[in-house]
Formats: sequence, C-alpha cells, structure tokens
Amino acid sequence: MTETKAYAAQSETTPLAPWTFNRRDVGPHDVQFDILFCGVCHSDLHQIKNDWFPGIFPMVPGHEIVGRVVKVGDHVKDFKVGDLAATGCMVDSCQVCENCKQDLEQYCLEGSTQTYNSYERDGKTPTYGGYSKTIVVREEFVLHLSDKLDLAATAPLLCAGITTYSPLKHWKVGKGHKLAVLGLGGLGHMAVKFGVAFGADVTVLSTSPKKEADAKKLGAHHFVVTTDPKHIEAAKGTFDFILDTVSAPHDFNMYLSLLKTNGVHICVGVPPEPASVAAFSLLGGRKSLAGSGIGGIKETQEMLDFCAENNIVSDIEIIDIKDIQTAYDRMVKGDVRYRFVIDLATL
Ligand code: NAP
Ligand code: ZN
Repeated sequence: MTETKAYAAQSETTPLAPWTFNRRDVGPHDVQFDILFCGVCHSDLHQIKNDWFPGIFPMVPGHEIVGRVVKVGDHVKDFKVGDLAATGCMVDSCQVCENCKQDLEQYCLEGSTQTYNSYERDGKTPTYGGYSKTIVVREEFVLHLSDKLDLAATAPLLCAGITTYSPLKHWKVGKGHKLAVLGLGGLGHMAVKFGVAFGADVTVLSTSPKKEADAKKLGAHHFVVTTDPKHIEAAKGTFDFILDTVSAPHDFNMYLSLLKTNGVHICVGVPPEPASVAAFSLLGGRKSLAGSGIGGIKETQEMLDFCAENNIVSDIEIIDIKDIQTAYDRMVKGDVRYRFVIDLATL
C-alpha cells in the first residue's frame, strides 16, 4: 500500500483539509501514477455539499487527473513507467453488460465505479479522487496523453472535455447546425471549442455580459445575455441544439422556446433540484429534452487524440491546493476563467 497525502472533506459542512489514506497495492492489471495536476469540476462541489445524494466521507474529490506512471502490474502492456497517464470520472465498471460491451461504461447497467464518492466493485471499499498525490487504477480506465499539449491544461479534458464532446458527437452536431452553449464555465467553454471545431455556428447563452469578449476569443460566433428579455426575444426559435451546462436551477421552458422545430435541449449540467417542464414547451415544435453523462473510455481516448491533433486544451487558472475553498467560492459566482486546476506539487 502507498500512504497518500490528500485534501478531503470530512463531512458536507467541513471545508477541505489535509488528510492521509492508503492506496491499494498495484495488482497485475493496475497502473499507478503520480498525480501532477487535477481539474476542479463543479461536480466536486455538488458532491461535497451533498447536493445530489448523501456522500461517502471522508471525501477526496477530483476526477480530472493527469500525471506520470510510477508502477505497472505484471500483465499491463499498454503503459510503462514514465508514461503520461490520465483518469476521468470512472475507475471501473462491470465490463460485461450490454452497455459496457458497447464502450458505454458510463451507463454500466450495474453502475460504474466513480473515481471518488463511490465504492469499488466489492461494494465496500471507498474510492478517493485526484486531490491527492498518487492513484492506482485498473489499466482499462487509464488514458494516454500526448506530450504535445500543456499538461495542466489537458486535465479538464478528462471531465469537462468528454462531457461536452460526447453529446456533440452523438447528435452529430456540426456544419449547418446552430448550436447554443448554455453557461460559460468549465464545461461550457469546452463545448464552444468543440462546437467550433466541428463546424457549427455557435452562440453562447450566458448570465454574465462580461464574458462576451472571452466567448468570442474562444471562437463563439454570437453571444446572448439571458437576463436581457430583448436578447431572449430575438433568439426565439433559432437553435438546432442547446447544450445546457448550468449547475443551478433554471427555467427550461424559457430555453426550450429558443429551439427550432425538432430542436434538442441536451442537459449535461446537474442542478440540485428537479425542474418543472411544461408539455406545451416540448410539443409545440416537436422538441426533445435529452441528457448525456460523461463518455465511455474509448470515446474519451478518441477525444484526447482529437484534442492533440487539433491543439485543443482548456483555458485554466492554476491554483495551490490550499486555495481550493476560494476557488469553489469563485466557481459558485460564475467567476471561473474557465477551469481551476490544482498543481499537486503544492500538496
Ligand atoms: P461551472 O464552471 O461552475 O459553470 C457553470 C456555468 O453555469 C457558470 O459559469 C454560469 O455561466 C452558469 N450558471 C451558473 N448559475 C446559473 C444560473 N442560476 N442560471 C443560469 N446560468 C447559471 O461548472 P462546470 O464544472 O462547467 O459544471 C457544470 C454542471 O455540469 C455542474 O452541474 C456539473 O455537476 C455538471 N457536470 C455534469 C457532467 C455530466 O456527465 N453530465 C459532467 C461534469 C459536470 P454564465 O456565467 O455564462 O451564465
Ligand atoms: Zn466533472
């Protein structure tokens, strides 16, 4: 076992603080890598606060994890010591159900094992995430990274990247489509980059007028301030797709009115409260309300390779781990440009 330094929340009301635990020994099919950078996802905060369900404490968050391999199991062929390596939101799944067999481990019918706030397949050993010095993961859930990209800026691809890439691919969003990205935060800014790379006409729908210049720099073609009724009126019936990355409660009926006939509103943001949707918002214009969760391992590797080929990374602000609470406070205010990444050298 490896004694591992980390930052953990001891309960839903205590701030993150230093904590130490043991990583398991490296098994024949495991890869151990030392964590160099870990992105800060809004899901980390939702889970520490028990926004979605009662969490497993102590909780070590972090599921945008990149680093360098320090040990591999006897049967591991795909990684060697010194390689770059990464892990996202999942560290295991049943591997045999219909969904796992179709490379959709995120929809594992037995439930995939999340990187933290989850139990290993034994149903009793808690998993701990990337706000820590090292991690041991079964080889099928470890991704390869190109050394062409800035490593810290690559970390957010493991969640914010794949969560936006996967639905855009699934719904074949591209040339000739008008895509609206709702919320310009960690996920939103990656959605803009991918939407532009796939050839869509991209509009950012934001509550923050100050983000307009950034949105344009990221490649967005248009910017709509959602708190301005005139902007909303002008945007009615104009989008083929809305990719909704909003983390807080919001009015789906208003956003559905912005879709064209047959338009699709895709939820990736997960507000704590359920929303109220009127049937009329959907049936007038045969609209769909859909959702998407992260992406499978094969697709995550495809996305990482696509980013390496097209020089796509996240726009980041690197932080010391001791400043994590300040980063959360800023994230809640929508003040992230556009992903915090922890430098684990500061732990
Ligand atoms: P984030 O960086 O905090 O971005 C969220 C953005 O939503 C904010 O920057 C803000 O953008 C907008 N927003 C916040 N409150 C709002 C409100 N009341 N009304 C309208 N817009 C609001 O968060 P993130 O890390 O991108 O995560 C976004 C959501 O996706 C979270 O709920 C997270 O848990 C979820 N998530 C889901 C998956 C999945 O698999 N589906 C994966 C990862 C994360 P503006 O300033 O532009 O308005
Ligand atoms: Zn995430």
